[in-house]
Amino acid sequence: MAKKSRIKIDWLCNDGRSNPAPGTVKIAKCGVCGKQMNVKRNVLGATSWVESVGHGKHRHDRFTCPNINEDWHKRIYRLKTDVYQEEINNCDPIGLEKMRQAAEKEILELLEVHAVR
Ligand SMILES: [Zn+2]
Repeated sequence: MAKKSRIKIDWLCNDGRSNPAPGTVKIAKCGVCGKQMNVKRNVLGATSWVESVGHGKHRHDRFTCPNINEDWHKRIYRLKTDVYQEEINNCDPIGLEKMRQAAEKEILELLEVHAVR
């Protein structure tokens, strides 16, 4: 059997940002590195590109991972979205599994180095 890592990868989680309705979420963890995210409560602003272009605003809590601008953090998110894209488009399950394993290996290595918990 394959060795189980102590870090579980959540493939479909937030990218280090989350904007729930005010007061609905107490603490949020980063979907990339697992750190507890910083929060600003009751922010008035846009939460999406579409909203910002349309000058829309609404109140929300703004969670942000303290590591969001780190290169390794962006790399992990990139790896995850690549696998996700492949999952949607791919008709070759073996290729997908190989890609997922390679991505998982790199993600775990990055986490071991940068986000030791
Ligand atoms: Zn993070």
